[in-house]
Amino acid sequence: MTTPSCNSCGAGRFEKLVDLGPTPIAHRFLDQPAGPGEFRHPMVAHLCEGCGLVQILDPIPPEQLYRDYNFCFTAWKPQPHMADEISLMKSKIGPADTIVELGSNDGTFLGEMRKAGFSGVIGVEPNRVANEQSRKTGAAIYEGFFSEELAGRIVSEKGPASLVVSRQVVEHIIDLRGLARGIMRLLRPGGWLMLEVPDFESPMLYGDVSSLWEEHVNYFTEATFCDFLEREGFGVTEVRRYPFSGGALLVLARLGAPVKASRRGELEASKAVARGFDAQARAFREKFTARLKANRAAGRLNFLYGTGCRANMLVNGFKLHDLLDRVIDDQPEKQGLYMPGSKLKIESGAALKDAVGDCFLAVNAENDEKVIAKHAAFVANGGRFFSVNAPSPRLKDLAIEPAAPSLR
Ligand SMILES: [Zn+2]
Repeated sequence: MTTPSCNSCGAGRFEKLVDLGPTPIAHRFLDQPAGPGEFRHPMVAHLCEGCGLVQILDPIPPEQLYRDYNFCFTAWKPQPHMADEISLMKSKIGPADTIVELGSNDGTFLGEMRKAGFSGVIGVEPNRVANEQSRKTGAAIYEGFFSEELAGRIVSEKGPASLVVSRQVVEHIIDLRGLARGIMRLLRPGGWLMLEVPDFESPMLYGDVSSLWEEHVNYFTEATFCDFLEREGFGVTEVRRYPFSGGALLVLARLGAPVKASRRGELEASKAVARGFDAQARAFREKFTARLKANRAAGRLNFLYGTGCRANMLVNGFKLHDLLDRVIDDQPEKQGLYMPGSKLKIESGAALKDAVGDCFLAVNAENDEKVIAKHAAFVANGGRFFSVNAPSPRLKDLAIEPAAPSLR
C-alpha cells in the first residue's frame, strides 16, 4: 500500500480506531459452508488527525469486491424520506431547472423527481443493468463513473445544473476532492448541492461495528461532512436527519454561499466520539455475548434475525459464530444460503415457531417493531426480542447505552 492520504483533506496523519481483523465480504453469501479459500480482507477504520474523517485506508480492490455482485438495488428498501427531500428541492429550484443525480442506481429517485414535476432530470450511473430500469422514468442517463470530464460533457450537452443530488453514494468515494471538482464544474453559479450519507455518529456512540462495511470508505458525522463541503466551496444551508437504514444525514449546500467561520469545536467533539469508538465496541460486545451465554446456560436458543450487510459485519466483527444457534431472514432468495464467514445457515421465519429462546434483531432500527409484530406467537411462547443495531431504543434492554448524548 502506498502512503495513504485523507480522502477529504489530503493530510497524511492517522490514528487507528477499530480493527476487526480479516473479514469476509458482507454481501457474499455462500452456497455451502465456507472452505478455507473464502476471501477475507483487513477491516480497519482510521481517523484523520487533520479533519477528523473516519475512513478505510486500505479498501478491497473493486475487481474483487464487485465480482459476483448480488445487485442491491434501491427499490428493495422503502424510503419514506424521499418526499421530504423532494419538497426541499421544490423550495429551491423551478420545475424546468436541470437536476443531475450522481449514482442514480435503478432510478427510484429519478422517478420520484419526474413524478414531482421536474422535467430536466439527468442520472449518472455506471451500472448497465440499473440503467435499463432508470430509462423507464424518462430521465436522461449518462452511463459511466462520474468525473470532471463527464461533468464537462453533461454541461456542454445539457447546460449547467441548478441542483446536483446524490444519495447514499459519497460514502463509497475515495477521491472526495475530485468529486467536489466535478460537481463544481456541473453547477451554475449559486447552484444547489443536496447530499445524503449514512450518519456515523450514533454507531460510534454505541460502539456498533455493524455500520462498518467494506463498501463504505468514508464514515461521516455532521461536522466532518459539512467541513469537507465548506472546504471545497459549498456553503451549508441546511442539515436534516432521517431514520433510514440506521440513520441518514442530508446536507443542502450552495455554491458560493457563506461558510461557517469555524467548525473547530464541532470537529474536535466529533474526533472525541471517534476516539471512544473502540472502547464502546468492546463494551457492546461484552454485554451482547454475556446475554448470549446466559441464554445458552438457561437452555434457551439464540436466534439472529436479519442477514443484511450490517448483520454480517456484526457477527464477523464481534466473532459471534459459536454463540448463535439459528439465523433467520425474510428474503426467500437468502434462505438456504450460508452467511459469509460465520457459515451459519439462513432459515425462514418459520424457525421461530414453537421455539423457546431469544431473538436478536439485526435489522435497521426503524424495522424492529414490524418484525416483532409479525412474530407475536414467538413472544406468546416466552420468546423475547432484543435489538442489536444502533440507534434502536431497544438496545437498552441489553444495557447497551451511548457513550454520551448526541453531538447536537
Ligand atoms: Zn482529513
